[in-house]
Amino acid sequence: MKITKIEAMEVLDSRGNPTVQTTVWSGDVSATASVPSGASTGIHEALELRDGDKKRYGGQGVLKACHNVNDKIFPAIKGISSDKQEKIDNIMLELDGTDNKAKLGANAILSVSLAVARLAAKRQKLELFSYLAKVYGYEPKSLPTPFFNVINGGKHADSGLDIQEFFIIPLKGSFANKLRMGSEVYHALKNQLASHGLTVSVGDEGGFAPKLPSNEDALKQLETAIKTAKYKLGTEFALGMDAASSEFFDEKKGEYEFKASKISAKPSNVYQVYKKWLNKYPLMAIEDGCAEDDFLGWKFLTQNLGAQTLLIGDDVFVTNPGRIQMGITQKIANAVLIKVNQIGTLTETLQAIKLAQKNNYKIVISHRSGETSDSFISDLAVAVNAEYMKSGAPCRGERLAKYNRLLEIEAKLN
Ligand code: PGA
Ligand code: ZN
Repeated sequence: MKITKIEAMEVLDSRGNPTVQTTVWSGDVSATASVPSGASTGIHEALELRDGDKKRYGGQGVLKACHNVNDKIFPAIKGISSDKQEKIDNIMLELDGTDNKAKLGANAILSVSLAVARLAAKRQKLELFSYLAKVYGYEPKSLPTPFFNVINGGKHADSGLDIQEFFIIPLKGSFANKLRMGSEVYHALKNQLASHGLTVSVGDEGGFAPKLPSNEDALKQLETAIKTAKYKLGTEFALGMDAASSEFFDEKKGEYEFKASKISAKPSNVYQVYKKWLNKYPLMAIEDGCAEDDFLGWKFLTQNLGAQTLLIGDDVFVTNPGRIQMGITQKIANAVLIKVNQIGTLTETLQAIKLAQKNNYKIVISHRSGETSDSFISDLAVAVNAEYMKSGAPCRGERLAKYNRLLEIEAKLN
């Protein structure tokens, strides 16, 4: 099981930007993992190392990160058994020595961390989700309910909508059934938008990016599409959104600017904006309703809406156990978004998940807007019994890689 060789290479992600792909060998058995990349990244995330060489990929190259894997990480973990995940992750953390993985790059470290887990699973002849469940003490019971991001705004599209993601959430039956429901509504929405002369080209996460007059109009479009596909909103489908509000919080003014709704709000009353939408639509989840460091806003939000809906922390928690603990202490949010590259090792990701679960926060495993066809997160979601998962719309190969893997896992579990 000893690691005998590691090789990282620069590949491209779903936006055409460079990312790291690493293969780890134990003898003639190998496993590969590749790393995603965000656009609306939180400032507290671990550092994604980019070359900054303007002559290549506009400075976005990751050759330094690959070099760090090949020439720094490999010599440090060579000869260690691939099932020593925690030991390997800790060696990489020590070798890096910074708080935010700035020296080696979280992209370099994560690519190794995930490939090592996949290799160990392979060597033990276990499915990845079974291996992860075994190592971290879980019994996989059910599949996560998908949040399909079918209308894109914010930094993911040029639709002009402030809200970054509008989700449809199927509520009935197996995962396979939920995927079918999501796809049927997605297509109903496409026809509906086209019939109004709106664009049906898709944003980074596979959702449509129509130039709608307001955020409310996006909710209305979803309501109509669900009806057209012959489903009942409220019982068979819920709605949700990722406001990604760090992107439209004006720090200087201390105000949230909902441009597409022509309103602004203070931290103390921004919850009222969401409450209005909640009163009108079955909004089951609101992600990043407040900005990454607006703890006051988060408190008001949680006190006023926490009993009614899932308040998911993404940029505020950044999959970081320390930040999650801060949230628990301050009683903010009731669900945690988990993105492996926000923190950069599998070991710390599991610490984040366990801490959240212990404190009754729901788990939402998430992709990034820049993705590859790697479906590691699907196995992770099943392994830890995550309640929900975000992998964009049921469209675009890199999004479907995750949903299709969940279909496969469901078939195996049955
Ligand atoms: P990102 O967006 O991957 O661009 O950060 C996803 C999210 O905000 O949930
Ligand atoms: Zn988010």
